[in-house]
Amino acid sequence: DYYTLSDRELIQRAFRLAEKAHAGQKRASGEPYVNHCLAVAAILVDFLMPADIIAAGLLHDTVEDTSIKIDDLRRDFGEGVANLVQGVTKLTQLPRVSRGEHQEEALRKQEEDSPKPEDDTAKRNRKRDLAAETLRKTFLAMDSDVRVVLIKLADRLHNMRTLGAFPEAKRRRIAKETLDIFAPLANRLGIWQIKWELEDLGFRYTNPEKYKEIAEQLAERRETREAEIQHISESIFKLLANSGIKVDISGRSKHIYSIYHKMIEKGKSFDLVRDVRGIRLIVPNVAACYAVLGLIHTHWRPIPGEFDDYIAAPKDNFYQSLHTVI
Ligand code: MN
Repeated sequence: DYYTLSDRELIQRAFRLAEKAHAGQKRASGEPYVNHCLAVAAILVDFLMPADIIAAGLLHDTVEDTSIKIDDLRRDFGEGVANLVQGVTKLTQLPRVSRGEHQEEALRKQEEDSPKPEDDTAKRNRKRDLAAETLRKTFLAMDSDVRVVLIKLADRLHNMRTLGAFPEAKRRRIAKETLDIFAPLANRLGIWQIKWELEDLGFRYTNPEKYKEIAEQLAERRETREAEIQHISESIFKLLANSGIKVDISGRSKHIYSIYHKMIEKGKSFDLVRDVRGIRLIVPNVAACYAVLGLIHTHWRPIPGEFDDYIAAPKDNFYQSLHTVI
């Protein structure tokens, strides 16, 4: 319903060409190739992207994998759609320039060059610098068109969802590249849903044992956890009822990869990762954020060292909020 009649006409035309161009091609799973194009378009529709992006999503593999030329697209769909497809096609080369292996090689080299053994913080900082550098190069290679990146992220997300069809070595390589490049990209752009899913899928295929362990522990306690979140949400709702602050409360399920990270970062076991149970409060303005924090901290004891003020000090991707553990 979101799309106008002419939007739909464009999208349908793009689908018909993709279907014709990819006719006879199959994915690793054995399904018709065009299913991938449809899935990519569907992810973009979920984000209510404009029709030219949906059309380009449907056509994103035609120039790379079929006899369709970029000029054909320019003629039939116009400069806009053609440029998007061209951008995505160019981006296919990208991971080879700045792949994770190069990163690790550089890291190893730095380690060899460094005269004395470093502590974990120094090592982590360097790893972070290299990740930032990879991301910077990635952005440079993208012609600064964020729409191209969105299509590429949707493409990668569907490829990750269907990664099971590939042999183990290929799964690992693609999953590692996803964690090195595409999840950080999604994070930098603030597209949380894609970031989380890319991270969890990437983790699942790079570290299957640990993934399974955490997933099982999460599943085991899901019911208890959900009941607890429900209970705590109600308490908070009651607490805030008299404050006059309009608040939207939702449970926040912590993702597997971020639980794993916290376990590593804090050297803790699953049981000791405290914010597996999380609640998110959305209030109308910044003043209300601090007011609600004050109310919460006067009713429940905050745990020292767990408070983060990302309003005063936003994350690199401009994310702002208050985090506390009680
Ligand atoms: Mn594709």
